[in-house]
Amino acid sequence: MTRWRRIGFRGRLMLLAIGPTLLVAVALGWYMTAARLQDLDRAVRERGNAVAQELAAASVYGLFSGNTASLEALARSVLNRTDVVSVIIRDKDNKVLIKLADPELDEYARPGSPAYPKLLSFSAPVHLSQLRFGDDPSALLLDPSAEMADPSIGSLSILLRDTVSGPRQTEILKNAVLITLLVVCGAALIAAWLSRSLTVPIRRLTDAVQRLSNGDLSTTVEVSSAGEIGTLEAGFNTMATRIDTHNEQLNRQIEEATSELLETLNELEERNIQLNLTRREAVQASRVKSEFLARMSHEIRTPMNGVIGFTRLLGHTALSRDQQQYVRTIGQSASSLVEVINDILDFSKFEASQPQLKAVPFSLRACFQDAITLLRPAAHGRNLELVMLIYADVPDRLVGDPTRIRQILINLVSNAIKFTHQGEVVVRVMLEEQEERECGIRFTVADTGIGIPEFARDQIFRPFHQVSSAADRGYGGTGLGLSISRKLARAMGGEIEFESQEGRGSTFSVTLKLQSQPGADGESPGTELAGRRILLADSHRLSQLALLHQLRSWRIAVETVDTPSDIAESLAGDGLIPDAVILGFGRDDVRTDRLSPILAIPRDRHIPTLVLLSASAQTQLDRVCELGASACLPKPIAGDLLYRSLCSLLAIEHAPTWQTLPTDQAGTSFSGCRFLVVDDNDINRLLIATQLSRTGAEVAEAEDGERALARLAREDFDLIFMDVHMPGLSGLETTARIREQEAPGSHVPIIALTADVLPSTQQEVLLAGMDGFLAKPMEEEALWAMIQSHVRSSDTAIPTPPRHPAMTAEDDALAREMFSRFLAELPQAHDALQTAYRDGNRAALRAQAHRLRGAALYCHCPALNEVLHRVESATDDADLAMIVTKIDREVERLLGAADDQASVRDSSP
Ligand code: ADP
Repeated sequence: MTRWRRIGFRGRLMLLAIGPTLLVAVALGWYMTAARLQDLDRAVRERGNAVAQELAAASVYGLFSGNTASLEALARSVLNRTDVVSVIIRDKDNKVLIKLADPELDEYARPGSPAYPKLLSFSAPVHLSQLRFGDDPSALLLDPSAEMADPSIGSLSILLRDTVSGPRQTEILKNAVLITLLVVCGAALIAAWLSRSLTVPIRRLTDAVQRLSNGDLSTTVEVSSAGEIGTLEAGFNTMATRIDTHNEQLNRQIEEATSELLETLNELEERNIQLNLTRREAVQASRVKSEFLARMSHEIRTPMNGVIGFTRLLGHTALSRDQQQYVRTIGQSASSLVEVINDILDFSKFEASQPQLKAVPFSLRACFQDAITLLRPAAHGRNLELVMLIYADVPDRLVGDPTRIRQILINLVSNAIKFTHQGEVVVRVMLEEQEERECGIRFTVADTGIGIPEFARDQIFRPFHQVSSAADRGYGGTGLGLSISRKLARAMGGEIEFESQEGRGSTFSVTLKLQSQPGADGESPGTELAGRRILLADSHRLSQLALLHQLRSWRIAVETVDTPSDIAESLAGDGLIPDAVILGFGRDDVRTDRLSPILAIPRDRHIPTLVLLSASAQTQLDRVCELGASACLPKPIAGDLLYRSLCSLLAIEHAPTWQTLPTDQAGTSFSGCRFLVVDDNDINRLLIATQLSRTGAEVAEAEDGERALARLAREDFDLIFMDVHMPGLSGLETTARIREQEAPGSHVPIIALTADVLPSTQQEVLLAGMDGFLAKPMEEEALWAMIQSHVRSSDTAIPTPPRHPAMTAEDDALAREMFSRFLAELPQAHDALQTAYRDGNRAALRAQAHRLRGAALYCHCPALNEVLHRVESATDDADLAMIVTKIDREVERLLGAADDQASVRDSSP
């Protein structure tokens, strides 16, 4: 195969032309030669036979007559002819009568001798019938019938020398080969000529294709052939021209595209440079914006600090009802303004970077209840039912950023309240998934408000975006709440989604990923109420359901009726009388004609009744008590407050340290503490000094860093509040000096006060040696917590959680009752304590002090609480004696004050 390939196109063509010719020529030559040789052979044999017959006919007489002489003469005459070399005549008995042979016969018969020819033998029988006078002997020979009837009278045989066929054969063969050769040569010549006429143009085409494929697109071939090859040549030229043209077009296009690309690249480069410049300008602008925002917020927060703080202080003074309303309005407006500033600050902060989240242990229920308590008055103000359902399996002790969670909740609930005109706002908190260290919490806020139109659904999370109807109808707001909330939820590994139907309401749902506190497993309610029976009736179905869940989680046996007016029927039966009745009413239900008959039923049967009302105004709550309720509290009621209220109503003593006991229910005392306030702003200084003095602490003031250092050189303080930005020595410099001058081992906590809330400032103050940071305007709770965390270790002060002014109204009824119970039990508890002291039983003394202290703390008796606390840390007997004397004095004071109040009440008309 490979050899065949090597032959090449021309060789193959030649073979194609010569091969068949050669085959035909050889076959024909062979056939003709063979035929010719056969003819020759037959002619020689025929001649031999003819000679033998002729001789046979001539020898009849000699044989018949036995005339051997004539036979010999006959034989000799035959022998003399050129080609007969031997004659043998036999009689009928096959006896040789005559035998004559050429003397050179041996020579003829020896192969290889020059005289050697081929010898052919012929024989013929002799019949008598052959003798016919005048007859042609050949005619006799041809008569077979005569032969049959005629028996032979002898026979003869001759040897004939074949002198013709040998040379003729050679000649014939030579001629055949010659002719074949001539034919083949002729065919080869024709093939060569033909192949040349085919291969030359094909080779030219092949070369051209080669050149074309090597890139020489100008290649053409000479069109010199006719027929298909000519068409091929012309076709090749057309194709080459087209390729050339196409190539040129392509090159032109590539050049154009390249130049366009280069232009674009240049433009991009320019744009890149411009973008870089713009980016730098934007970064610079953003920095300037952030600084501006921080400065503005500082400028606004500083006076707002004064406004809010003094509004609060003003609220504690004696004011007429109208004045109180004005003060509340000022406080609310100021708080809204601070909220707007906070929103804008948060937004600009989150625009630049991800929200920084804290991971602190917190109580989820307290976090939600705080937010709801804050928003309760707004909901009641719009006559909305606010319901909170925290499912029992939701873990309470978690780790996360409660402030930010509260921020999301407050934003969603205030939106729900803002955009709802009637109906309800329902907050549900549920556990979505629980893993070993992490849990997924979902809370939903559903309202029955105006809803969000279809077209605005993908826009409400955009910053500054408000649905036009919301903006037009003057709902207020910045349009930042949802965008901030979504950023916060996402930073907490969650998401905010919502469903809404225009005109029917919206449901926002938030998922959060929070860590579980190690060792904490869910809510651990008290056990004091287990087994008690309560009759529950709330006309609002969901509120009733929420209460039912809550009460059953404390293993209370709850019986429900659909509406409060149905309790008469339930109480009239012979069934078990409940230990207490809980009734839920809407704001508009507070009508004498409606409530009095309902409340009269349990009162007449001496069953304590707790009324929960969708109203926050103290006047309304008081009114319900006047109409016959044992206690009246606003809805939705926090779990722990409900628990305590029920314990109180059922006269059950319960552990005051139940875990969700709110920190904002007790009084504040930092008596014995010495604070120094350093601030150049007179109002701020006066404000914080006043707030601190109200807690019984001793407060010194300094209006700049120099004066602060001078005071510190003379006096000791438990804690210093330091403004950061002050003329002369700044807060940071003053702190650095204080730290330099401090004796080894002594360390006075310094808390920074600033309206500048940027994280960089917070870092700066900590680096300068300060111990904490409080943002202006200051939340009282934050202030108390800060003092608590820094003065706790000190023996000189017993910080206790402060009393939240906002909580005063709603808890007063309960507090009053708790306080009277406490006073009633006080003498007995005091006696037990004195007995333990007299007996020298330190353990019993400590236990009694601890028990009494819980009650004192809960009933807002800070001074008693303080001295009781000292029992635990008394160093020696003398110290203990002094403490016990102080306790005696404090108990006496409290009982005396109670008597005074009672006598005043008794004497009043
Ligand atoms: P803001 O309430 O301060 O305007 P938000 O970002 O909280 O800003 O809300 C953006 C807009 O989304 C609102 O102005 C209001 O048009 C729409 N929206 C949010 N919550 C509700 C809701 N519960 N019902 C109806 N519309 C809502």
